Amino acid sequence: MNLSKIKIFWLLFLIKFAEANILYDVLKQRTGDPCENLYRHTCPLGVNRTISQELEKSINPILQKFDETQDAVRKTYSFLKIDNIQRIIESAIESMTFIKICEKFNLTKGVQYLENILEQTKKVMIEDIKNTNWLLKHNQTDIAIRVIEKIYLTFDSKNQEKVKFFFKDFENCFNSCLKDFPNSTEVCVTHGYECAAKHNFTWIDLIKTANGVNEHNKIINFGISFILYASQTQDEVLKVALIASLMAHELSHTMMNSITASNDNILSYFPPKAEDCITKQYESTCKTYKEIKCFMTFRQLEEAGADVIGMNLAYKLFKNIINQSASESILKKLNLSNIDQLFFLTYWSILCRPEKITTTEMKDHPANNIRINAVVQLPEFQKSFNCSADSTMMKSRTDQCLIYGKKSKFK
Ligand SMILES: [Zn+2]
Repeated sequence: MNLSKIKIFWLLFLIKFAEANILYDVLKQRTGDPCENLYRHTCPLGVNRTISQELEKSINPILQKFDETQDAVRKTYSFLKIDNIQRIIESAIESMTFIKICEKFNLTKGVQYLENILEQTKKVMIEDIKNTNWLLKHNQTDIAIRVIEKIYLTFDSKNQEKVKFFFKDFENCFNSCLKDFPNSTEVCVTHGYECAAKHNFTWIDLIKTANGVNEHNKIINFGISFILYASQTQDEVLKVALIASLMAHELSHTMMNSITASNDNILSYFPPKAEDCITKQYESTCKTYKEIKCFMTFRQLEEAGADVIGMNLAYKLFKNIINQSASESILKKLNLSNIDQLFFLTYWSILCRPEKITTTEMKDHPANNIRINAVVQLPEFQKSFNCSADSTMMKSRTDQCLIYGKKSKFK
């Protein structure tokens, strides 16, 4: 094979590889005008493949092995059973199962990637916190920075280590105790537990849906499909495009005065005008893009707020990581003219649903199409697609709600 043939071979291989990406495939289904309805542009009605479906399907081989792996872990540590420490043992076994799954499916790269993205997201958020006047005025800057700095992912490598040390110390102490007191299994389990308890790990839950959760106690958890996606996706652009908006949203929950988790609010003050600003945008988007029923209620304010803070954060994060030249080949293949377009087309891409969207007043989240179309808030949206002022998206736009950062005008 001569050099040019090798090159062509690799080129074909790379094209094939890029096309095997879920996000890339879905982006090719676009139809209509993003300035008219961004959500239905990237997610046409009746579309037969959605990102969340594909992500959830991708973990089937993992789920098939889950029970088997958990049984094996349970068997290894079957001596641990004792009633008063049952809950911690249960969480240790589930966490260990998660670790074994990560090893079995080679997910270390994905775990590290998500850890790294969280750290970068925290950096951008902290920079904004430092420059936010209303936080300073209400003496909340330091506490906000401290809380953000401490946020971590349940499945991060540090927590995985703690789980492993927990079992190691448990086993060592249990075995040496049993040597000295051969008939005292129960006493030795308690002794083992006392040795291991210092490794205060966080329960690693396996989320099967394509979703993330901010547990509101400095912990963020992510669906295992994202770890798998991050492990298997080579292209940095496609990787960050799928994950940035979700990560930024989850982190932003901590900086949104929480209604649903009001007992652990970190902020004692949140500008009422910021809440009004968010509500106005979502009401306007709801009015414009109602498909069956659309409500924006007080109950949805926390999620809408995490979206508004998150979209600003995700945009900065995306631009920090991706530059024009790195994304050139993807842009060309998708017929896009700039990376901002790629950001907006992939913003919250897991929210695509093929059927008409409806919502009720009881839901905590605004309707999926409203969440995506509210991204018109960012001035870069109009610029990137060159939308005219009288396009439907632009007419649905209300005042920009810049809650954090130098440019925030809230008091
Ligand atoms: Zn949320």
